[in-house]
Amino acid sequence: SPVESILECRGVSRHYGALAAVDGIDLAISAGETVGIGGPNGAGKTTFFDLISGLTAVSGGQILYNGKTITGVSPHQLFHQGMARTFQVTDGFGSLTVMQNMLASIINGGGAERPGLFITRKHRDLACAVLADYGLLNSADDLVSDLPALDRKKLMVATAVVHKPQILLLDEPVGGLAPSEVDAFIELILGLRKTGITIVFIEHVMRFLLAVADRALIMHQGKLIYDGAPKGIAADETVKSVYLGSA
Ligand code: ATP
Repeated sequence: SPVESILECRGVSRHYGALAAVDGIDLAISAGETVGIGGPNGAGKTTFFDLISGLTAVSGGQILYNGKTITGVSPHQLFHQGMARTFQVTDGFGSLTVMQNMLASIINGGGAERPGLFITRKHRDLACAVLADYGLLNSADDLVSDLPALDRKKLMVATAVVHKPQILLLDEPVGGLAPSEVDAFIELILGLRKTGITIVFIEHVMRFLLAVADRALIMHQGKLIYDGAPKGIAADETVKSVYLGSA
């Protein structure tokens, strides 16, 4: 029997007035895939993420998560069904320590409507285990705002992974990192990939996309102009014309 897609988009669109920010996307992502989304500024990548994570409603088409429509399902409900998303801006909790940040994530997971009130021994043990996995246990008492950029990115992933999501959506995971830090993050994501989790990310840094993705999607003016092997991007005529500004 055919394997059901974890995420499926059928003619998905999002209009803002006359602008089609996302314009008729058809796509099926299988469990365990690592998919990288690229494309120029304003291509519709963030809007597309907002649609698949339930933050923004589609104007047309349908999105299925594990075979069921997400229409009317909140980001919080999707989170509890195994969909975790990280955002570009992560310094909102800069005044908390690494451990406090992890514990807050554990008890408030996904912006719970009724956050848990008590931190138990179990929460603390889980926080320590995940921080250790990500090489952050020695920084547990450091303020997030004092962390090096790479460690902040690691914490961002760790606070999502602690919830054991089926699918992880990462928004510009290596944006702002130095080249050597990008290398370290590549290793981290390759390790995460091996666990079988489905990863979908937006990233402008092509070196990262080429190193970690099984599959690349390139968007332009709300449409998918490329869906295939990452190594095929550089030779693709449509993609080349978009990046040279002539499309
Ligand atoms: P970037 O790489 O710069 O983050 P992007 O590919 O993520 O760009 P989007 O942020 O999704 O692109 O924007 C796609 C288009 O939709 C842009 O023209 C943007 O101005 C427009 N847009 C996005 N959100 C809104 C909104 N809430 N209201 C009106 N227009 C919007």
